[in-house]
Amino acid sequence: MAGTLYIVATPIGNLEDITLRALKILKEVDIIAAEDTRHTLKLLNHFEISKPLISYHRHNEDQKTNILIDKLKNGENIALVSDAGTPGICDPGEVIIKMAIEEQINIVPIPGACAMINALICSGIDTKEFIFLGFLPLNKKIRKEKLKTISNSKETVILYEAPHKIEETLKDLKEIIEDRKIVIARELTKIHEEFFRGDIEEAIKYAENIKGENIIVIEGNNKLKDNELIDMTLEEHYIYYKKQGYSKKEIIKKVAKDRKVPKNEIYMKYIQKE
Ligand code: SAM
Repeated sequence: MAGTLYIVATPIGNLEDITLRALKILKEVDIIAAEDTRHTLKLLNHFEISKPLISYHRHNEDQKTNILIDKLKNGENIALVSDAGTPGICDPGEVIIKMAIEEQINIVPIPGACAMINALICSGIDTKEFIFLGFLPLNKKIRKEKLKTISNSKETVILYEAPHKIEETLKDLKEIIEDRKIVIARELTKIHEEFFRGDIEEAIKYAENIKGENIIVIEGNNKLKDNELIDMTLEEHYIYYKKQGYSKKEIIKKVAKDRKVPKNEIYMKYIQKE
């Protein structure tokens, strides 16, 4: 019988945030695949867990995926962990999960810390609907497109950012977010945990002197009035949501809601789209 692939969330700073179930799984599996084995070893040592570790990171993902899938097929149970938080969220995970699904291997999530969710829930910004865009790309063209998505997003936007790039990113955001609220969630769960809440000008000033890890949460664009959406052609309305990463099903639901018409009516019009 094939083994199970456990996707195990680990703390994003405070070691007390590991769950009892995560510890149990880490103790029980045959192998732990870790983004940085030295980093994970510290976590394991802290909880007195001794297990064979295999490195599994962005640069060896393809090659290591095959090795790990073979082990799973041979009946070994594997836990996948990243350096911090939830694997697969701006961390390695996607590749092996997709392949495990193809190979009909059982995959079990072991929930725990995820930086963006904790930034969002304490931001004070609308949590009902949000989009997570990960890190803004460095490629100028793609970055511009993402900034446009942020500019047009009616939903709260969440971004991850590396410490040395936050100032530059905030300066780019200044061009597009006008007076929307912005929150910087810094060093979550650590000694210097802090939430900055204000506007973009203040955020830029704040970021001049900060160190550590940060998440940016931006209020949705409330100025984009419903009637602006209705004034779009159906095609433009579709593209507007497509660019924000919504699936066809979600787009149909949103367009129908904006236009106050039954979903079926929109579905019939969009039936040709992929
Ligand atoms: N998979 C992880 C998760 O979702 O929890 C995120 C990994 S990603 C490579 C690292 C980014 O997450 C950092 O650049 C920062 O934006 C954010 N992050 C991780 N830990 C954080 C913390 N303790 N406080 C604030 N931001 C954090």
